[in-house]
Amino acid sequence: MTLLTYGTNFNHLTTQRYAALGKRVAPFELPFTLAEYRSWLASHFAGTTTRCFYCNWPISLETVVVDHKTPSVQCGSLHFDNMCLTCKSCNDQKGSRRAEAVILLRTLCNNSTLFTPTDRDSVLGRLQSSIKLAIREQRRRAGEARTRQPNVRVMPHVRRPHKSS
Ligand SMILES: [Zn+2]
Repeated sequence: MTLLTYGTNFNHLTTQRYAALGKRVAPFELPFTLAEYRSWLASHFAGTTTRCFYCNWPISLETVVVDHKTPSVQCGSLHFDNMCLTCKSCNDQKGSRRAEAVILLRTLCNNSTLFTPTDRDSVLGRLQSSIKLAIREQRRRAGEARTRQPNVRVMPHVRRPHKSS
């Protein structure tokens, strides 16, 4: 089965992903059209699967997550040359770090002359815990914001740049 036979499913999925990507980079605009996004995505799939940029795990169009190698919060480009395809697990672990930092950390942890298996598990375990804590804190804040009284001032999202007027 080739991507062309995805047909309606491919169009539906890519329309959703394109819209989600657009929301993620707001207030900036995506520097490519939906059609360009579709052909960029299709070019990465040989048949129905491709591999995660970070862990090489096979990923399908249904499970793929588009990642900015240098995150936009670190002034990364919104163009294709800064984009890669990942599995959800790697994307969650990466957070707002740069791809080089993630790869370097993994390489370091997997170097058995530097790290014993116990060191490795400890480092990765601590990272995992801090990610879980950060997600929990984010959810707690989102919950607080929803239950606040209308007269309480809600601070705007800190990552949103000021609009020049
Ligand atoms: Zn992965």
